[in-house]
Amino acid sequence: MNPINRFVDLLLDQPSATRVSRQDFLQFTGRTLAVGAIGSTLVGCEKKPETTASSSAETMNTSNGPVPKLPATSPPAEVPSDQQKSIELEPIKAKTEQQEGDTPTPLPEDQRVGYALVGLGHLTLNQILPAIVSCKKSKVVALVSGSPEKMKKVAEQYGIKKESCYSYEDYDKLKDNKEVQAIFIVLPNGMHAEYTIRGAQAGKHILCEKPMANSVAECEAMIDACKKADRKLMVAYRIQYEPHNRMVREMVQKEQFGKVKSIIANNGQNSDNPKHWRFNKALAGGGSLPDVGLYCLNTIRYVLGEEPTEVVGYVHSTPNDPRFKEVEEQVNWLMKFPSGVQASCATSYGHHDDKSYRVLADTGWIKMDPAFPYTGLKLETSQAQGKDNQIIQHNIADKDHFATEMDHFSECILENKVPFTPGEEGLQDQKIMEAIYQSAREGKPVKLTTIDKKDAFRGPEPKES
Ligand code: NAD
Repeated sequence: MNPINRFVDLLLDQPSATRVSRQDFLQFTGRTLAVGAIGSTLVGCEKKPETTASSSAETMNTSNGPVPKLPATSPPAEVPSDQQKSIELEPIKAKTEQQEGDTPTPLPEDQRVGYALVGLGHLTLNQILPAIVSCKKSKVVALVSGSPEKMKKVAEQYGIKKESCYSYEDYDKLKDNKEVQAIFIVLPNGMHAEYTIRGAQAGKHILCEKPMANSVAECEAMIDACKKADRKLMVAYRIQYEPHNRMVREMVQKEQFGKVKSIIANNGQNSDNPKHWRFNKALAGGGSLPDVGLYCLNTIRYVLGEEPTEVVGYVHSTPNDPRFKEVEEQVNWLMKFPSGVQASCATSYGHHDDKSYRVLADTGWIKMDPAFPYTGLKLETSQAQGKDNQIIQHNIADKDHFATEMDHFSECILENKVPFTPGEEGLQDQKIMEAIYQSAREGKPVKLTTIDKKDAFRGPEPKES
């Protein structure tokens, strides 16, 4: 028996209260079941008052809008087509067992895009460097740091040449390092603009951590500098490349549960250490909003493919808390979208960790909890089935967020494509964040330019999606 059919049979072998038809189940879980690493589990059902489910939702245009204009860059590198084929191994599992995905097909070392990592802090050492083993098209060939001892140790750990280790003063010398094609900027937010502009002027493509910069003016200067230097610029919005949030986007845009009415999102944590740059306005740009709140903002825009037309914001900081002398503790804000969706978001540096959102639609809801950590994301849906609500946990295998986003950028460099999250995507977030702060200062809603195009600031879909 086909393993998918067998799996469905097992899932459907449940008490009648939770039973759904094979056709409904397959339709509901969609392509999830077609992929070995992904599955869905019916976890429960809650009795609900009878409601009339509307299926007359407006059809959303799911096509990409025009790709933002970015410069043409160096000609695509030749990737021999047999490199793209995966090696076939002898099967070892029964057909009734969950199957492994394709064997990875990494490019040979000399064909991968070489990166210089700038800033050896938490994100670089704990996430980005360890992710390199999962990369298929990217490698790290150079480091830039203010600490020679730390850099020496890291270079030895990851096999990076001594002569490819640079201080911040020597940053511009990256120009002469032919092994470096791209620079990944992992510095405090207030340094992103300067290092992007200098990196592009040194002839390198730029992958920049979020938030893109501290102001709209800085974002615009970064985009201009990369255009002038004929280099690509991508903002490292890892959530837009990982499979759980991508599946939410697909469910929303295909109107799997009818028309979306509301999205409620929160990303907060209890951040400590007032001496850290995250509490310094010049280095951080703001407090919780540009750091963790940005995930709510960017993910909602991504999931809907729409741009807000109006925002209202409230900002609060606990009086006399030494952490919040320069930057805010907490921001709550509302966003109105052209389709009628209203989003309610919250972010904080002062409450216990919570990183989740919920999409509320005509005939069901989609819950991501947690939605934004590096691993362990959980996607759950509830859908009306007759008199019941069926709750399904979608078991989707984690993909390394950093390897996936780096490989996407490398692919854009190798194949001369616009990144899915180019500088324009970061600029749009910055404009919205500035409107949220303005609304809080002025105590009234702030209108934004109406943008009708779908996915107006994104490039073509990543191949891996
Ligand atoms: P961090 O403080 O751990 O590291 C920052 C690095 O910058 C350190 O190595 C520090 O020495 C160096 N640095 C250079 N000049 C500095 C200066 N003047 N002041 C302070 N540090 C200086 O920070 P991080 O958590 O690694 O964050 C770096 C960037 O990555 C930020 O833009 C942040 O928003 C982003 N980030 C993204 C994610 C994500 O999931 N995409 C997660 C965490 C951080």
